[in-house]
Amino acid sequence: MENRTLTCISCPLGCDLEAEVVGDTVTVTGNRCDKGVAYAKAEILNPQRVVTSNILVEGGICPLVSVKTSAPIPKGLIGNMIQELKNMKIRAPIRIGQILIRNLLGTGIDVIATREVETCPAGE
Ligand code: SF4
Repeated sequence: MENRTLTCISCPLGCDLEAEVVGDTVTVTGNRCDKGVAYAKAEILNPQRVVTSNILVEGGICPLVSVKTSAPIPKGLIGNMIQELKNMKIRAPIRIGQILIRNLLGTGIDVIATREVETCPAGE
């Protein structure tokens, strides 16, 4: 058995949660509503995050484009994702919302651009 304390971030009240974990069973107290239970279970059993980062750009007016995942990914994959992004270069122009990586690490989730990068008039 393991005891965990968490703060629910599902609404501004920020309830302090106490969770008792036995295998895959999570018992939650301190929540004012059911969302707190769902939040604690997800955070303990399968934590996920929307990840933001940058990718190098070739031939653009700036050297980086900001990106994010199209949905939360498992926290355990974040390191692999960052490594994959470090090894990439994307050719300008890039549009907001453009999919730069499809099906990231087999998750079915994409990496999308969150800013525009125009082509550099000088070419590089
Ligand atoms: S448990 Fe319910 S009331 Fe408390 S922070 Fe989470 S969503 Fe808000």
